[in-house]
Amino acid sequence: MNIEYFKNKLEEEKTNLEKHLSRIARQNPKDPEDWQTNPENLNIMNSDPNEQADVFEESASKEAVEKEIEDRLNEIKSALRKIEDGTYGICEKGGCKIEKKRLEVNPAATTCIEHAH
Ligand SMILES: [Zn+2]
Repeated sequence: MNIEYFKNKLEEEKTNLEKHLSRIARQNPKDPEDWQTNPENLNIMNSDPNEQADVFEESASKEAVEKEIEDRLNEIKSALRKIEDGTYGICEKGGCKIEKKRLEVNPAATTCIEHAH
């Protein structure tokens, strides 16, 4: 298996995710693994009720997006750690090999197709 190929794919996705995250959230200076949505958006004291509702909605969906990206980023990071450890491509549930076509679709997959559910 060409680990370098998947490593590149993972690094590329990681860079993209971090770029995306930095647009909607900021990294916690005390914990670089933690991202927070921009707190300025929660400053709604002076806006009218209609606007407030919009801001709430927007910040809720932002948070959901942020969470999704952060989760994905953590999967990518853990896959990259596995490459370092030499355990990349091994199914976490059965110790079997993860199919190449599965890794092609999701290079951060942690299980083989059989153990996916
Ligand atoms: Zn398996």
